[in-house]
Amino acid sequence: MISDFPTSPSALARYVDGYWPAAPVLLKESERLVLRERIRALLVREKAVLVAHYYVDPEIQSLAQETHGCVADSLEMARFGRDHGANTLIVAGVRFMGETAKILSPGKRVLMPTLQAECSLDLSCPIDAFAPFCDAHPDRTVVVYANTSAAVKARADWVVTSSIAVPVVDYLDGEGHKLIWAPDRFLGDYVQRQTGADMLLWGGACVVHEEFKSQALRDLKQLHPDAAVLVHPESPADVIALADAVGSTAQLIRAAQTLAQMTLIVATDQGIFYKMQQAVPNKTLIAAPTGGQGATCRSCASCPWMGMNSLVKLAQCLEQGCNEIILDGDLSTRAMKPLQRMLDFTRAS
Ligand code: SF4
Repeated sequence: MISDFPTSPSALARYVDGYWPAAPVLLKESERLVLRERIRALLVREKAVLVAHYYVDPEIQSLAQETHGCVADSLEMARFGRDHGANTLIVAGVRFMGETAKILSPGKRVLMPTLQAECSLDLSCPIDAFAPFCDAHPDRTVVVYANTSAAVKARADWVVTSSIAVPVVDYLDGEGHKLIWAPDRFLGDYVQRQTGADMLLWGGACVVHEEFKSQALRDLKQLHPDAAVLVHPESPADVIALADAVGSTAQLIRAAQTLAQMTLIVATDQGIFYKMQQAVPNKTLIAAPTGGQGATCRSCASCPWMGMNSLVKLAQCLEQGCNEIILDGDLSTRAMKPLQRMLDFTRAS
């Protein structure tokens, strides 16, 4: 079952001002090098650590690595920030990641290169629409994906990431729970098929993953018959059906290492290629196609909001201490409960 809230990108564009972010500014090589050095010095001055997502600009991922920060998925980013000794976390990703870091580390200062980096899944699920939807189904346990606002997390019973969505839902199904799942309908559909759980799905989608095309992927497979296909489960079901491995960003990187094939077609944001290529330097990585018949580009798998994290904005937030994540204390405490359930489940499993 899928709810009827208007959550397709075209529908959302009519509801949300500033939905599409501005294009990033291109830097000259000399400017880039100066900025990198400036950011290194500012991280030391501010006693801060840089925590970056796999989908941000490789420039920022490499800076995070070189300065002993981390490059990871959203859950690992938050866990790393919580456990690190620094009192200031610089979160390069999208806003819900900064919020999650703040929920897990309420005593730390959390800054972001921009607070305008959204996520179509988060935008698709405003608390004003989601809370009444949950209230209308009081017999259902509410499970939300990490890609949601702090307010939506606070309304949930459980938070999950794509890496543990299947085992958590399987566990809840075994305990006899009927579920509300939000916001990604494709991931929800995948989890439902894997577990057989009774799930009422919210209708959101990721603007990057929903664009992968199964026919174009089949055509690409014909050109590379020995390639393995790696797919993130936010993709449509007919694309997932062609996969040799389905998983979260971290799970796809591990699959790239363990699969025998030397050529890998990868259906997720192309930002992952930076860390994946480090993990499998001898393998060839190909972006899965998003363009159908007659399209002018083969693959446009780049999140526009992740792309807003630039070196310029990163330096500015460190220099000025701006773009701080501030959360209401009560909201943060309520959002921590379903997050803590997920962390406890991860530890126990
Ligand atoms: S890639 Fe998709 S799920 Fe990830 S932040 Fe961008 S819009 Fe959200």
